[in-house]
Amino acid sequence: MQDAATATPETIFLKDYTPFGYKVDSVSLTFKLAPRATRVISKIVFSPNPETTDARFFLHGKQLDLKWAKIDGTEIATRAVPGGLEADVPTVPFLWEAEVEISPETNTALEGLYQSNGMYCTQCEAEGFRKITFYPDRPDVMSTFTVRIEGSEKVMLSNGNPTASGTGFAEWYDPWPKPAYLFALVAGDLVNHPGSFTTKSGRPVELNIWVRPGDEGKCAFGMEALKKSMTWDEEVYGCEYDLDLFNIVAVDDFNMGAMENKGLNIFNSSCVLASPETSTDANFERIEAIIAHEYFHNWTGNRITCRDWFQLCLKEGLTVFRDAQFTSDMRGAAVKRINDACDLRGRQYAEDNGPLAHPPRPDSFVEINNFYTATVYEKGAEVIGMLKRLVGDEAYTKALDLYFERHDGQACTIEDWLNVFEDATGRSMKRFKRWYTSAGTPRLSVKESYNKGTFKLTFRQDTPPTPGQKQKKPRVIPIAVGLLAEDGTETHPTQVLEMTKRQQSFKWEKLSAKPVASILREFSAPVILQRETNDTERAFLLAHDTDPFNRWEAGRELSKSTLKAMITTGAPASALYLDSLHAAIRDDAQDPGFRAMLLTLPGQSELAQMLHDDGVTPDPQAIYDAVQTLKLTMAQQMQDTLPRLYAASQVDGPYSPDAADANKRALAGAVLGLISRTDGGKTAQAQYDDADNMTQQLGGLSALLTAEKGEAAVQAFYTQWRHDRLVLDKWFMLQVAHAAPEATAATAEALTRHADFTHTNPNRFRATLGALAGNHAGFHHDSGASYALLADWLITLDPLNPQTTARMCAAFQTWRHYDAKRQDVMRAAMERILAQKDLSRDTTEMLSRILS
Ligand SMILES: [Zn+2]
Repeated sequence: MQDAATATPETIFLKDYTPFGYKVDSVSLTFKLAPRATRVISKIVFSPNPETTDARFFLHGKQLDLKWAKIDGTEIATRAVPGGLEADVPTVPFLWEAEVEISPETNTALEGLYQSNGMYCTQCEAEGFRKITFYPDRPDVMSTFTVRIEGSEKVMLSNGNPTASGTGFAEWYDPWPKPAYLFALVAGDLVNHPGSFTTKSGRPVELNIWVRPGDEGKCAFGMEALKKSMTWDEEVYGCEYDLDLFNIVAVDDFNMGAMENKGLNIFNSSCVLASPETSTDANFERIEAIIAHEYFHNWTGNRITCRDWFQLCLKEGLTVFRDAQFTSDMRGAAVKRINDACDLRGRQYAEDNGPLAHPPRPDSFVEINNFYTATVYEKGAEVIGMLKRLVGDEAYTKALDLYFERHDGQACTIEDWLNVFEDATGRSMKRFKRWYTSAGTPRLSVKESYNKGTFKLTFRQDTPPTPGQKQKKPRVIPIAVGLLAEDGTETHPTQVLEMTKRQQSFKWEKLSAKPVASILREFSAPVILQRETNDTERAFLLAHDTDPFNRWEAGRELSKSTLKAMITTGAPASALYLDSLHAAIRDDAQDPGFRAMLLTLPGQSELAQMLHDDGVTPDPQAIYDAVQTLKLTMAQQMQDTLPRLYAASQVDGPYSPDAADANKRALAGAVLGLISRTDGGKTAQAQYDDADNMTQQLGGLSALLTAEKGEAAVQAFYTQWRHDRLVLDKWFMLQVAHAAPEATAATAEALTRHADFTHTNPNRFRATLGALAGNHAGFHHDSGASYALLADWLITLDPLNPQTTARMCAAFQTWRHYDAKRQDVMRAAMERILAQKDLSRDTTEMLSRILS
């Protein structure tokens, strides 16, 4: 076996980019499938690349057993070098042939070709193809692929269109040149849920969702979501599908959510299988979004790909932005925007303000798998949103048209992307580019003044230093502002101010009285707004702002301000907050989904981050206690309203995952969570018993756990659902998420000993250990038991699945925010992992960065 992993981890720099010395004119692969001895025979036509003088012929390869290699039909000797092999090759076009043996069955890392429940499947992004055969495994090398699969499997799929099949074989041809990371192969005992679509130019496309027998009943929603995505991309971006066939396959063992391989998307089964009985409203929404996301990659990612992995946000930021637009159109813009802001603040701000901070386009990495982050994806999408806000909708469309026209079939960079905007709009993108190259979240402070009819807002931006970036230059920040009069009417509708300097003022003249400003409407930039304000003004905006995001934001700020006082001084819950909230949720003119968001308190880790930013060392138990007290107070103060609201939010008729019904259920669920604190779980038990869909059932169970009356229901739920692996994931997760701080580690530990726990399945591992890290007070409990338990399991998982292990190390990224004792225990846990012999490159890099 040849394995490059023995080489010392090497840092790779963006500045060192050079094109590969050879172009790949065509690739032909034959797979002879066998669980432990699959043979892969490759025939690749190379020709010298005129764009470079680098003549080194180096092919990536990892854990490959090379049987032979030939050039132009003659067997040759190759040289094993770290990460692959080298060979002497002609200076004219030549045919490379090689045969390797690989072992899919023992591939637990789930990269390259592996088996999941006996089914063969692949995951090649970012660098998995090198575990399949020797190849220039880099995104800027693009080629057409011909694939022949030989095996006894019922269904054998690859990219592109089928060209031939018979007993024991299937052949595929993908006419669109692609990098190796988009290669895919699936073979197994699968059944399909078929569908069809006709593109706007009349091309008929056969659609399939392939699943394990028994899952056929869970495909209909995914199929509809796929068709909606295809229509939406034609209508909004003018992007049409380009093959005769589009296949989706559901796989149980998968590190990521899903993968956009050309014509053959592979999905984590949790991100595609859906039925009312087994999936929650949140699952349905997520599945619709992920199917759209992967489909949209066909243009933003596949037709136009990335030159190198530093440019990952070129495809991911843009595609996340596009799927967010899609979800807004399908389900309502306000709630989607609020959800996205919560998600960004919860995950990306933690990253951006800690040791793992990196720009959306990083300058260097050791292991690219560690850069599939909230910064690259979600902040990358925010950057596109800002760009659109700054240039306007029309110019954005013009620029995107130019992007597709100019770069189709190419591997591009952020510079190419920004040049398109410069050319389409005539604006310089030099300053804006800093969003791509700088890490950290800007703090945007604002001062207000009013004098003789002139209202002035003076903004200042400061970004704290991040690893490797001490000085931060000012960025271009779109600040959406509207003005309200004292009586609550809007006098100045939303206007986008363009801030380009470190400090900058904007004026409104000839006003008859001092207005109330609504700043950063629609969350117009991913910054932390530091505003001199007070709870009275927040309550005013919560009652009157015409911008739904900022109305919600005012409520959120009020809740944070009352929680901060409760945590740090033991003050009672603010009457102003409770009264304002009460008025807002009674307003039946407001969307139920929006009111559900108002009733949802900030996460405890977000509160810890807030305290840390304010110079207070967070005490996880004190945060937990304050949140419990506030929820109980809310339930008591609103006890006349809540049952009425709960009753009014019940949905009649059969279950539908549509936004209108889902939003009603969301409000009912948020209300039930409060009612259960005062009625001993009576309403929750009734909902659990009567539920005919998973949203109601899981909501009932969750509220029963809140009321500490969940024991019987937990048992019953298990008995009912033990056969369904995706529902069982919820069962694992819920128990850990709802455990009291002192019981969290023991609950998680007991579940890891449960017969249905398996650490090699990433979904089950995340449901249990991910939930442990997500239970803030439980994870950071004084005993240190959760830190130790997580470390134990990361040590166990690392040799089998480095990717999932490394990602979960992020649980420790905020370790420096806590008191000295907790810091010591967390550091010791991380050092214990780092001390393991043969620790993976992925995990080593993550922990070293977190500790540095
Ligand atoms: Zn993606």
